[in-house]
Formats: sequence, C-alpha cells, structure tokens
Amino acid sequence: NDVDTFRDRLEDLVVPPKVLTRIEEELDKLAVLETGSPEYGTTRNYLDWLTSMPWGVRSQDQLDLGHARTVLDRDHDGLADVKERIVEFLAEGTFKGDVGGSIVLLVGPPGVGKTSVGRSIAEALGREFYRFSVGGMRDEAEIKGHRRTYIGAMPGKLAQALKEVEVENPVIMLDEIDKLGQSFQGDPASALLEVLDPEQNVDFLDHYLDVRLDLSKVLFVCTANTLDSIPPALLDRMEQIRLSGYIAEEKMAIAKNHLWPKLLKRDNIPKKRINLTDAALRQVIEGYAREAGVRQLEKQLHRIVRKAAVKLLESDQQSVKVSVKNLEEYLGAPLFRKEQVLQGEGVVTGLAWTSMGGATLPIEAGKVHSLTRGFKLTGKLGEVMQESANIAYSYVLGHLAEYGADADFFDSAFVHMHVPEGATPKDGPSAGVTMTTALLSLARHQAIDRNLAMTGELTLTGHVLPVGGIREKVIAARRSGIFEVILPEANHRDYDELPEHLKEGMTVHFARRYKDVARVVF
Ligand code: ATP
Ligand code: MG
Repeated sequence: NDVDTFRDRLEDLVVPPKVLTRIEEELDKLAVLETGSPEYGTTRNYLDWLTSMPWGVRSQDQLDLGHARTVLDRDHDGLADVKERIVEFLAEGTFKGDVGGSIVLLVGPPGVGKTSVGRSIAEALGREFYRFSVGGMRDEAEIKGHRRTYIGAMPGKLAQALKEVEVENPVIMLDEIDKLGQSFQGDPASALLEVLDPEQNVDFLDHYLDVRLDLSKVLFVCTANTLDSIPPALLDRMEQIRLSGYIAEEKMAIAKNHLWPKLLKRDNIPKKRINLTDAALRQVIEGYAREAGVRQLEKQLHRIVRKAAVKLLESDQQSVKVSVKNLEEYLGAPLFRKEQVLQGEGVVTGLAWTSMGGATLPIEAGKVHSLTRGFKLTGKLGEVMQESANIAYSYVLGHLAEYGADADFFDSAFVHMHVPEGATPKDGPSAGVTMTTALLSLARHQAIDRNLAMTGELTLTGHVLPVGGIREKVIAARRSGIFEVILPEANHRDYDELPEHLKEGMTVHFARRYKDVARVVF
C-alpha cells in the first residue's frame, strides 16, 4: 500500500536516473520488510522524503516589469531606489531567461522592510516563497541534514523548503545571514557557501537524502543588518541592495498607507471607528518610535488600536479620536523629547552609523582637574575609536594657538572624554573631527550653541578623510532635528546622490582639512 502511494507520487515528476535507481532499491527493500519493524519505519520515512522532492517541477517565471512595479508599489511606500534596483535585476533576468542562480542581499537596519521586500520579489516573479533564519545556527546538519544512521535523522532546511513549496525554483530567503559567521565559525558557514555557490549548488548533497539536489534554479534572497560579518567569498557573489532607513515624512506615509490599515484590518475594526489625527501620528513617530525602521512604530500603533478597542466597547461610543491631546492616555509619557541634542562647553554632536542605522552621537570633553596633564577615555570605545581620540588629542595639543586657544591649556588640564550612552559599544574612525572639535571647544571655553552635527576621520596632519554611511547619517541628523552638518569633502558625491527629499532644507559644509571644520564651528 505504501509502495503504491510512493509510486503514485512519482508519476508527474521527472526524477533523475540515479535518484530513480535509489528509489527502486528502497521500494524493493520495503516490500520484503515486515510492516511495523523499526527498519520498515525508517525506510518508509526515507522514501517519503525522496518522493516528496519536487523533481523537475518548476513554476513559470512571470518576468513582467509592469507587474513587478505594481506589486512593489502596492506593498511599499518610498524605497524608490530599492524598487528600481529590483526592476533592473528582473530586466536582466528577462534577457538571460532566468533569475535563478542569483543571490540578492538586502542589507539595512531592523524594521526597514527587508523581509517584506523579499516577499514582494517572490510575488512579482510569481514564485513560491520560503523563509528561514540562519542567525544563530550552530550545526551544519540544520542546513545539510543528518546522516540516516542517526536516530531521528532529518533532512536539512533546503530539502525541507523544497518539500514545502513543491517546486524546484522558489525564492528562498535566508534571514540574518550576518549573524551566522559571527557566533560560529566553520561548519554552518561553509555549508551555506556550498548552498549559495552556483558552481556547487547544481548538485547539492543533503546528508539525509543522500542523493543530489539541484538548487541552481532557486533565487536566494539574503537579509542582513551589516556587511562586516559576512564572509567576503559570499559577499562577492551577491547583488547588494541597501535599505537605509526612513525619515519622519516617509514614516508618516508608511503608517497611513500600510501599517495602520493593516492593523485595523487584522482586528476587523472599521476604519472610521478609530480616528488617529495626523498630528498625533507625527507625535508617535517623533516621541515614541525614533528608530531607522518602522517596527517600533508598528508596535506603538498596535497599542493604540488595542486601547481604543477597549474604549469602544466600554463606552458605547461610535468612534474614538486619538489626538495629540489624549495620546498619552494611550502610550504613556513620550520616550523621546523633541530636543535631545546635548549642548555645552566641550560637547559636540557627531554622526554614527551602526547596524541599527544612523544615529547622532554626542561627544563630551571635560576638564577634571588642573594638577597634571592627562587624558582619559570612556564610553566602551573600540580600538579604532580610541585611536581617533588619541589623534584628536595630539592634533589639538599641537595646534592650540592656531585655533585661538590658550597655548598651554593642556599643560595643566586632566581631560576626560566620554561618549554616551556608556553601555553601547562603539567603534570606527568617523568621530575624529567630532572629538577634535570637542577638545577645542573645551580649550577655547566656547560652547557650540547651535544644532550642528559632524562626521569625518581625522589624520594627524589635519586631513579630513571620507567615511561611510552618509545617507544613514543624514537621515539620523534630520530625525534629531539637526539641519546643519559638516561632512568630508571626499563624501561630496555621496551627498549629491541622495534623493532630494533628504537634502531639502539641509545646510552642508564640506571639509578637506580640519581648519575647514573649525571655520564653520567657531
Ligand atoms: P528585521 O531586520 O528586523 O528582520 P526587516 O527589514 O525585515 O526587519 P520587515 O519585517 O520587512 O523589516 O518590516 C517591518 C514592518 O514594516 C512590516 O510590517 C513591513 O511590511 C513594514 N514596512 C517596512 N517598510 C515599509 C515600506 N517602505 N512600506 C510599507 N510597509 C513597510
Ligand atoms: Mg526581517
């Protein structure tokens, strides 16, 4: 009976000869085994897997750019450049006749829509979608399966995916690919290389199945928060698409057109029964969800929906209105206040870029006492950042007079430099000019009393070198209400290439040498 079931399954499949031989052998074995014996069970299980693989079954790709644009626009607000990259990618696929064998990498901070864009790629193509997270995977067997001699052996995720989607050419999303190499070297990472390498994945060997699978028709879409921990060999083969985070206006649109309607629909609450004003929505964004993506925003909106639902039921009102006035009844006191920029003597705002997106990074320098000369650093700074601080100190020490400070200020000043918040690890060279400015502000006894932020690496000879993440940093500045920034001249082009809505209303100074920075600041 089992034998018949398995034979039936094979009818519509194009099973490779080697696999067919294996299946036949196993079917013969099953026929002579006693039903109910443990051997029977394992053989049956094995056959079940072998005959559930979608041998030769493929869905027809829908390579229609118009359709793709429609799907992408329907599901996502903004992201114009990301959508365009995807359309370009599909256009290439149209000429090549196939998009399989490619690896797309969507990289960006949490909650910016990577998973959701990946899903839309599958839908645009008319392909099945399967997603699993490789973050924290410790065992190669999760990817490649266990050998059958193992008790309770299972095939790996890739075989499981193919069984689930019933075609050989789905879109498979590998989430958190940057979290793999980080925690566990070696096995899972190299297994993944095998999966993604077009040379090797034509005949991928799952240990459990023990026959070759063709993964070359799969379109792999990986997601990551950062590129740092992805093996270079992998990175080389990927089409990188960057999602860098949203400014308040974009979040407004996303919330109104997607998040809010989605939440109401999920609870089956008619739209007109909860009225969230624009001003209240803006306050949610600025006061409760200051992040690069929209995940917190979605959570806060969900809280509003929940509380409003209670009000609707307990008060017999036909509708409730959520406005700036009563927002705190729903969300409590705001988590962020409008003015978060620290100011004072020795305090300067820098711009940082991490896997969480861009952020403003205040730097504080203070004189502890005047007994000795000295310098100390705190704030969980990485090695590179500590070096930046030392360069800044040396540079300022050597150029005090030039920048209008007391030439012997540091002779009797024990200086402490701190980068809050103290518990968050930070690294990178891009705070060089900011640290220098903080020390100069201290030495000149002059506070910087306007909303100004800066970024740039500084060399010992006072040259300002380019830094990464200009887009993320500009977004972060805007998010904190800072509309004047100093950037390295070498990043001029990166800035020029930003979309208009990010540049609007910004005053930007470009610096080649530190003296260009000082001229703007003091
Ligand atoms: P993580 O790194 O945490 O996995 P992610 O980048 O995969 O985050 P998603 O889960 O795709 O983020 O997005 C979070 C939520 O925000 C989803 O509900 C998604 O639909 C929505 N969203 C994000 N960006 C947009 C956008 N541009 N337009 C509409 N909705 C969006
Ligand atoms: Mg995701």
